[in-house]
Amino acid sequence: MTVEQITVITPSDLIAMRVACTKCQASLSLQLNQTIRVPDECPVCSTPWREQRSMGAPTEAERLGNAIKVWLEAERQKQPNFSLKFEIPHL
Ligand SMILES: [Zn+2]
Repeated sequence: MTVEQITVITPSDLIAMRVACTKCQASLSLQLNQTIRVPDECPVCSTPWREQRSMGAPTEAERLGNAIKVWLEAERQKQPNFSLKFEIPHL
């Protein structure tokens, strides 16, 4: 028998999205109770975080953060009639 331990988290466990620069490792937290807005560039080393052609359009990260916010609001309104959980390896 193999025992596999996992940890289950719900969207309501999430408090912020951390954006980290792949070049200099600087990071910032975007609180999920606020509008998710990823800066156009790294605030420390100025590496672009947004493709030129997508200026002004929501990034994938922003869409993900905002989708989580939409789900949290749906849960608050008790809809739909199922819960959503994510499984992560046990830490
Ligand atoms: Zn950087």
